[in-house]
Amino acid sequence: MTDIIAIPSGLLPRDGRFGSGPSKVSDAQLQALVASQPRVLGTSHRQAPVKDVVRDIRTMLGELYSMPEGYEVILGNGGSTMFWDAAAFSLVRERAQHSAFGEFGSKFAKATDLAPHLGASSLRTAPAGEAVLPEAEDGIDVYAWPHNETSTGVRVPVLRPAGIGDALTVVDATSAAGGVRVDIAQADVYYFAPQKSFASDGGLWFAIVSPAAIARIEEIAASGRWIPESLSLKVALDNSRLEQTLNTPAVATLVMMRAQLEWMLAGGGLEFAAARSERSSGILYDWAGRTGWTETFVTNPDLRSPVVATIDLHHSVDSAELRRHLRAQGVVDIDPYRKLGRNQVRVGVYPAVDPEDVESLVRCMDYLVERLLT
Ligand SMILES: *Cc1c(COP(=O)(O)O)cnc(C)c1O
Repeated sequence: MTDIIAIPSGLLPRDGRFGSGPSKVSDAQLQALVASQPRVLGTSHRQAPVKDVVRDIRTMLGELYSMPEGYEVILGNGGSTMFWDAAAFSLVRERAQHSAFGEFGSKFAKATDLAPHLGASSLRTAPAGEAVLPEAEDGIDVYAWPHNETSTGVRVPVLRPAGIGDALTVVDATSAAGGVRVDIAQADVYYFAPQKSFASDGGLWFAIVSPAAIARIEEIAASGRWIPESLSLKVALDNSRLEQTLNTPAVATLVMMRAQLEWMLAGGGLEFAAARSERSSGILYDWAGRTGWTETFVTNPDLRSPVVATIDLHHSVDSAELRRHLRAQGVVDIDPYRKLGRNQVRVGVYPAVDPEDVESLVRCMDYLVERLLT
């Protein structure tokens, strides 16, 4: 480790976790786990103590999003990736349109495209770092797009396109939920997993669903379509109303998620959480704008994500080398998205991240680059 350039300890962030997912888990969430002992962890998820945690999460998510009348929170096992398959079975009648401008949007598009019971997906694409929005099209019954494309750091609006009739808007909010403002009435399905803005572990999915989405789930379940039980949103809906999941959930993840929701609501709700991420990403974008060897990857300021900042580095600065020095000193996971293949840092600044630590991160990068370039 002799070749590691030592960063003065006063410059280092207090917490060096800046991953885009999994992301920083706060000490308070771990304390909540300990505090839940011995009544919750290691006990039946069909009994009140665990069901109470699920109920709290569903209630608090409703509060965080000021859920309109008739909207419900449902959950299940398998994370957002599993939700794509569940959506292909339980939400799409015949054909989905996807706005795909990065890795995650493309993956969901592929899931509905390959489903043998559905028509070929209609695909709208944009190059990495840019975006495309949904648009009304004949024969489409689901419009899908990511609120925040985590692979590129692009955030788009959540707005129901004009003229789509009874088609559903199905928004991947895996990295946006909990850290980005939204008018939830614009989405029929706003789904996410707990390992990003909710600072918990992965493996579960949550979805805020509108009355129209619930009607669609019921309609398709009654249609006779074969749906694997584990991918049925009707089964998830029925279980969620009973504060449970079809099969055993990760109870610790639920407890940590509840703790993060309590923290968000105590601080002032979604506005508080979103403002905190905005402040953190603003520090990074300001720094990228004034520093000679950096450039914000997303050129349109309106599309720049408040929760995942992607910053290109000048070719004289090797991102891998910079990250090697940081990682050796506990500052981790600012790698660019694998398949993007750019000389870049990608910084996850979900609400759990302290903006002061982001200031420190910037100072550490300046400190290292000053020495790496000489
Ligand atoms: C992380 C992520 C996913 C995948 O989530 P999993 O829970 O790991 O399946 C999907 N979509 C977006 C936008 C993401 O950021």
